[in-house]
Amino acid sequence: MKNVLVTGGAGFVGSHLCERLLHDGHDVVCVDNFFTGNKANINHLRANPYFEVIRHDITFPLYIETDSIYNLACPASPIHYQRDPVQTTKVCVHGTINMLELANRTGAKILQASTSEVYGDPEVHPQTEDYWGKVNPIGIRSCYDEGKRCAETLFFDYFRQHGLEIKVVRIFNTYGPRMHPDDGRVVSNFIVQAIKGEPITLYGNGLQTRSFCYIDDLIDGLVRMMDSDPSLTGPINLGNPVEHTILELAEMILRLTKSHSQLTYLPLPQDDPQQRQPNIEQARTKLHWAPKVSLEDGLKETIAYFRRVIL
Ligand code: NAD
Ligand code: UDP
Repeated sequence: MKNVLVTGGAGFVGSHLCERLLHDGHDVVCVDNFFTGNKANINHLRANPYFEVIRHDITFPLYIETDSIYNLACPASPIHYQRDPVQTTKVCVHGTINMLELANRTGAKILQASTSEVYGDPEVHPQTEDYWGKVNPIGIRSCYDEGKRCAETLFFDYFRQHGLEIKVVRIFNTYGPRMHPDDGRVVSNFIVQAIKGEPITLYGNGLQTRSFCYIDDLIDGLVRMMDSDPSLTGPINLGNPVEHTILELAEMILRLTKSHSQLTYLPLPQDDPQQRQPNIEQARTKLHWAPKVSLEDGLKETIAYFRRVIL
């Protein structure tokens, strides 16, 4: 049994990760300030004596004992990370420094939930880990994109300067149960709109692409990365390489929900990446990991979840 700290543990990804780590027999501390997280995501875990919740903002230092740290705390949806962009950069930079300092004090290994956004609007397709990205440093997405890029820099400087055991994963669009209905990301928006019979809000012409990974597959990749050989620092892409246009996603959700919602076209937000698909050769060969859940199967689970929540 290990003492594992999950920052952002009450969020969408974090709550699934806490659940998996408890299932694997670890002692889990969930640290969250509930900025976008939700107590309902973790209430079912509270009866477990090996689960603890600390309400804490990681932009302030934290002093506890721990063997490993998953650093997930950060709003992930554009509408949420743009709501208080200065705080978004702070959580990526100050928050990450605080967690790296905690790892340095305790000798814990530490994993950073980085993102495909470090590639920006990519000119290399599919994206490989050695691509440095095309990111606007002063746009509305920059608080998140540049914040996450700086967090990666900090991880590698603590690795070089202090010899920390670090793990950096770049997560591509992930979806599944426990996304908040008002999260604002495309999968939750479209499913909620389809179930309610409201217009499906396509931004731009809907021909921009994303590659969607089901939450169970991502969690498996995160745990494999944390348990990997200490020499494996990453960065390593985790995502599903099957790419779809946003219009295809809308059509699939309409079919699976048997909804009669109409498509409505709205302006494309500034700096919205045109294409995104992970190259996962590194994850395949070094972690023996590949996604197993198809988009259709994952959407069925997610739709069933939102039906329970909404209706
Ligand atoms: P989420 O918004 O559901 O979860 C983020 C959690 O962090 C929330 O519980 C929130 O309350 C908490 N948090 C935010 N600021 C905090 C702070 N200062 N102190 C403590 N807790 C704080 O998002 P998610 O989808 O679960 O994403 C989790 C992580 O994975 C994020 O770091 C995100 O950047 C990364 N990621 C997610 C995706 C995805 O598709 N879900 C893709 C790429 C990267
Ligand atoms: N999108 C959309 N309608 C929505 C929400 C998002 O067309 O209601 C588009 C958005 O413009 C982007 C894609 O779907 O091109 C994925 O958006 P999301 O916010 O889920 O993730 P990210 O842009 O961070 O990949």
